[in-house]
Amino acid sequence: MTGARSEIERAAELLLKGGLVAFPTETVYGLGALACNDKAIGRVYVAKGRPGHNPLIAHVASRADAAVFADLDQRATALAERFWPGPLTLVLPLKVPAAVSPVMTAGLATVAVRVPAHPMARALLEAVELPVAAPSANRSGGISPTTAGHVVDELGDALDMVLDGGPCPVGIESTVVDLSAPDVAHILRPGGLDRTVIEACVGPIAATAANAPLRGPGMLARHYAPSHPLRLNATRVRPGEALLAFGPRPLEGAAHMLNLSPSGDLDEAARNLYAMLRDLDQRPVRAIAVMPIPARGLGEAIADRLGRGAVPAGSASAA
Ligand code: AMP
Ligand code: MG
Repeated sequence: MTGARSEIERAAELLLKGGLVAFPTETVYGLGALACNDKAIGRVYVAKGRPGHNPLIAHVASRADAAVFADLDQRATALAERFWPGPLTLVLPLKVPAAVSPVMTAGLATVAVRVPAHPMARALLEAVELPVAAPSANRSGGISPTTAGHVVDELGDALDMVLDGGPCPVGIESTVVDLSAPDVAHILRPGGLDRTVIEACVGPIAATAANAPLRGPGMLARHYAPSHPLRLNATRVRPGEALLAFGPRPLEGAAHMLNLSPSGDLDEAARNLYAMLRDLDQRPVRAIAVMPIPARGLGEAIADRLGRGAVPAGSASAA
């Protein structure tokens, strides 16, 4: 514990000095930088190759810390009370612009905020005592990292430190809910918190067409993409394809096969999604066929990521 404690302290010091520290959250590994430090935030965009119009999420230790710079109305307070810490990001009016770099918010009058639940992320945020931007610690447009090894493989040289907290327990990014307008709520990105539990708390949330080209700033079509083509809703395996299976009856005939969840558990599938995509992407195959995934629970977020990962290269990409 002493070791872990001093590692967190070292990581906090590095962040406060403008360093980049990757750390585990319950969703995916984040590439951390002090939210108010323009230079550090600039380094995040460069390290990721992320377009400047795609704003970052500010991570804080508590709802009270979020309320210092973001305006939480009744709906936001209800959601934060119920689901923070956890895989829910709220887009809110930015109350104190100086609290975060305009580079981090892409110059918007709103800010995305989350209180992560992972114990290492919490300890780090408590030690820093300031908001920390933490987009996924991968190159923009690619597969998000769910282990420290993924982070080191992809961004190692650009980082000052990586905290290793083992595999991420949720495995898919946070659900982003836009509450910046007083009369309407939107889900900008389905994620680790199921829409139905959010709606049970604040009522129905405006539907955004799944194929809407731009659901939030920076959210362009191709994203979360392996280098091999993805072929979705496969009902048979074609020659030369790897298979990403789901459920107790995987298709036959694949040269390489991984099963997201042999028992058909969507939480397990979300946890395995990115690591299995990374693994199959390294195989000498023509394409990755993916079996149908049910749309309930975390299936909505899994389908969103796979759908964006399947958009052909050459389309616009985002981080
Ligand atoms: P990530 O890249 O996983 O950190 O996800 C951050 C996502 O949150 C981005 O794709 C943005 O589109 C979204 N986001 C961040 N800030 C805002 C904002 N102020 N308004 C709307 N969406 C935002
Ligand atoms: Mg990302």
